[in-house]
Amino acid sequence: MRYSEMFLPTAREVPSDAEVVSHQLMIRAGMIRKLTSGIYSYLPLGYRVIKKVENIIRQEMDRAGAQEVYLPMVQPAELWQESGRWNYYGNLLLKFKDRNDRDYCLGPTHEEVITDLVRYEIKTYRQLPKNLYQIQTKFRDEIRPRFGVMRCREFGMKDAYSFDADEQGAEMSYRKMFDAYMKIFARCGLHFRPVEADSGEIGGSYSHEFMVMADSGEDGIVFCGACQYAANMEKAEGAVPEKETMDGQNFLPVSEVHTPAVRTIEEVCAFLNVQPQDIVKTLVFNADGKPVAVLVGGADDVNEIKVKNYLKCNELELADDAMIYAATGSPRGFAGAVGIRARVIADYSLTNMMNVVMGANREDYHMKNVNIGRDFKVDDFADLRVAREGDACPRCGKALKSARGIEVGHVFKLGTKYSKAMKAVYLDQNGHEQTMIMGCYGIGIGRTVAAAIEQNNDKDGIIWPMPIAPYQVIITPVNINEASLAGAAEKIYQSLLDRGIEVILDDRDERAGVKFKDADLIGIPLRVTIGPKKLAEGKVELMIRKTREIKEIAVDNIVDELIEYVTQQDGLL
Ligand code: ATP
Ligand code: MG
Repeated sequence: MRYSEMFLPTAREVPSDAEVVSHQLMIRAGMIRKLTSGIYSYLPLGYRVIKKVENIIRQEMDRAGAQEVYLPMVQPAELWQESGRWNYYGNLLLKFKDRNDRDYCLGPTHEEVITDLVRYEIKTYRQLPKNLYQIQTKFRDEIRPRFGVMRCREFGMKDAYSFDADEQGAEMSYRKMFDAYMKIFARCGLHFRPVEADSGEIGGSYSHEFMVMADSGEDGIVFCGACQYAANMEKAEGAVPEKETMDGQNFLPVSEVHTPAVRTIEEVCAFLNVQPQDIVKTLVFNADGKPVAVLVGGADDVNEIKVKNYLKCNELELADDAMIYAATGSPRGFAGAVGIRARVIADYSLTNMMNVVMGANREDYHMKNVNIGRDFKVDDFADLRVAREGDACPRCGKALKSARGIEVGHVFKLGTKYSKAMKAVYLDQNGHEQTMIMGCYGIGIGRTVAAAIEQNNDKDGIIWPMPIAPYQVIITPVNINEASLAGAAEKIYQSLLDRGIEVILDDRDERAGVKFKDADLIGIPLRVTIGPKKLAEGKVELMIRKTREIKEIAVDNIVDELIEYVTQQDGLL
């Protein structure tokens, strides 16, 4: 492509809402433009990268035996009512009516539509397994769209759905997708990690997220340096301590202490001269209308997802003042387990707690030397807290490390959640009706591109990994008005095109400095500079964007040399 003909509006300024570097660079490099909140247009340069990622995904999905379909984005309410998600999905689901007053939504995901398709077409075990995928637009009315295309409302997703006759088959389908995802993200040149994850809104039994490691990532993850364990912070299991026998011999006498204006853990520690691990926090939740007191250590936070999963409730939120008063007999902020009128569940880490401090269920009072069994009762211990760096690995016991990541892909074992609700059944060998076992597998296309930029940039701009670069080479004659330079550039350009290389010829009548800046910004991996001095010696300069290494190469060899670089770096293809 000739630069002079490109629609490539690079920009010096970035909008104030562009907080992360990928968002800033995608705007500056003329890849995307915002239409309205959370809705973006891809410009030619951006769309080329999208297509690169899509092609890698297509190749690996096809190789794994999945087949591409294209499902409607507009979906009838009936299907969502059938699966039970019409209301459950909440405000993320954009609903509307047609002229006949029928309800529809824009698909935020496609379990309902694919299950509907498959239940009518697949009748016997002979037609199973099947894995169908698509690359298609989703709409989720995100509460706070941010970071450009990383968390937007309209976005492209590759979503795949597997249907199996039995558990064993479903396990194999999951494995295949897991392996395909490993290949896809490696081929995109990303530094990433699969982590165990909560199965969230989509529901189901088992899942992994693929996290691109980046400090700007919205997800916290923990991982073990010693074994393979890695998990989303939301999901990471706490180690279960051995229960020690407590005969009460070391129990100190319990006492109530007046603690006016002492609220935070730090204030309690200072006031009572104790450590955070001596304190137990009591949070009262409203679980489907009933109060539940959740106890965690003073330095810990309650993981609401774990609490919700543990209680198997539909709605979980912090109790309001009325519920707190009914349970504790005091205003908000003084809850403790002693005498509380609620079910009490405690995190495993409190298994051996002794002589602890807690709220006294009385305004401005704490209790000291509170002990389980003697002063209060715990209905159940469970894993309820947010994992932290330094926690013992639940697999091997070594200390966990933490990092931040961007979730680019997610694989779920769904089991029969949708097939049961929507009656996707088949006849087995014995002519008996069985429910299909499903899996679903998503990759955010735009988010993958943004994540790649988060990992590959410097102060001058983007540094594309070769396999997803919008163009592989840019040719920069330093002065287009000098016939010898323009002529040499044109010749190299034509040969590269003939050899199938994706190349930009910067034929603009601009200063060399401007051209170099733009080439750096848009991140083309290889730049060929054609200047008068070197050309007189029969040479051109090749610059590697990533390392800034510059090589002098004979004009006659440059095309072969470039092809070598492109294919080397593209080696995974
Ligand atoms: P998140 O937790 O980030 O909201 P999710 O877990 O709800 O995402 P999934 O339902 O697992 O998302 O969707 C599959 C993939 O789609 C995600 O791994 C992510 O790459 C992408 N994705 C999800 N939501 C968005 C969004 N708002 N903008 C861009 N990509 C998204
Ligand atoms: Mg997810």
